[in-house]
Amino acid sequence: MRTTEFQLPTRFGAGGLGGCYAPETLMQPLLDLEDAFRKALADRSFQAELKGELRHFVGRPTPLTSAPRLAARLGLQGLFLKREDLTHTGAHKINNALAQALLARRMGKTQIIAETGAGQHGVAAAAACARLGLKCTVYMGVTDMARQAPNVARMRLFGTEVVPVEAGQGTLKEAVNEALRAWAARCDKAHYILGSALGPHPFPTLVRTFQTVIGEEARAQILEQTGSLPDAVIACAGGGSNGLGLLVPFLGDTLHRFAVEAGGHGPALGEHAARLDGGRMGVLHGCKTLLLQDQHGHTAETASISAGLDYPALGPELAALALDEKIEVLRASDDQALEAATWLCQSEGILPALESSHALALLPELAKRGFSTALLGLSGRGDKDLSTYQSKLGI
Ligand SMILES: *Cc1c(COP(=O)(O)O)cnc(C)c1O
Repeated sequence: MRTTEFQLPTRFGAGGLGGCYAPETLMQPLLDLEDAFRKALADRSFQAELKGELRHFVGRPTPLTSAPRLAARLGLQGLFLKREDLTHTGAHKINNALAQALLARRMGKTQIIAETGAGQHGVAAAAACARLGLKCTVYMGVTDMARQAPNVARMRLFGTEVVPVEAGQGTLKEAVNEALRAWAARCDKAHYILGSALGPHPFPTLVRTFQTVIGEEARAQILEQTGSLPDAVIACAGGGSNGLGLLVPFLGDTLHRFAVEAGGHGPALGEHAARLDGGRMGVLHGCKTLLLQDQHGHTAETASISAGLDYPALGPELAALALDEKIEVLRASDDQALEAATWLCQSEGILPALESSHALALLPELAKRGFSTALLGLSGRGDKDLSTYQSKLGI
């Protein structure tokens, strides 16, 4: 029997963000996806399979590392890093990619379509597909392919076809357009693995659900290591998947929750990807959310040194939590992120992804505001950004 209505809430917050603004051809696949997702969550064998793969393939639980030297340098009493950089393939993206690939296989799909910006989601999807024997096609903007060349090579090594997207700025926005188009044409055989907490319902809920393993682990780990919760929890925000994954399990706690967007190289439209202050309500890629747009409502260009934060829309659930003042959204510039990366390298011997460096850059601000302990989501490792670090830092 075919489902004809969504069973889960499709909207977030008082403003009714999210929704399902999808073409008619995608409605049945989205309904089927929600149905399969709900049934999988309730199925012990799926849960056991996912847990086993997260443990033995992804490397979970990831450590929570105390960073005392960096804490002292920045004026904090304590700093704890949730080490998604230590997952297989090097970023939190694998948690979601693997879970969705398992779901796709359960639904009888044989092909996977994905988009990628930084390349981390593409690599994660490619690895998950190789692991599970699924055929994988990844759409990637040509600009991103140039600045994330090592990740293109990794995807190809895993047997994935990488399709260059020339349209527009050649970044994530255009890649999502192409991936959605490809899915509409092949949705009988293919599942689309969306990489962040974005897109039409049920994707934002699905991706957030599969990423909350980050915050659930981190909350238990910090309680075990220190006996108490930190004053502040902070993560970077592109679409919002690692941010929600870390912060949602702390929503019931009396502490401060922060998400950090890309401040880029200036405050004018087109120079950054800071959607909370810079954006207005709009619809992009199937959901209603805060969106950077010009006075005519055209989606604006964005800029960031980090491909993973370079997207014009904030995920609808994170945007709703920010508007409801459950999460405070700040921004860090390209230069601040670059400098912050060197702090972590020199003080702790950990090379962060440029995306994660945006969260690190706000730690002095937290210290200035009087927070003494912080838990930071280190969303990924910086190996993919080595050439940017080399050229920008002159090393
Ligand atoms: C993709 C990516 C991000 C941003 O995506 P979210 O969905 O906001 O988490 C952040 N950090 C790294 C390392 C990434 O690869």
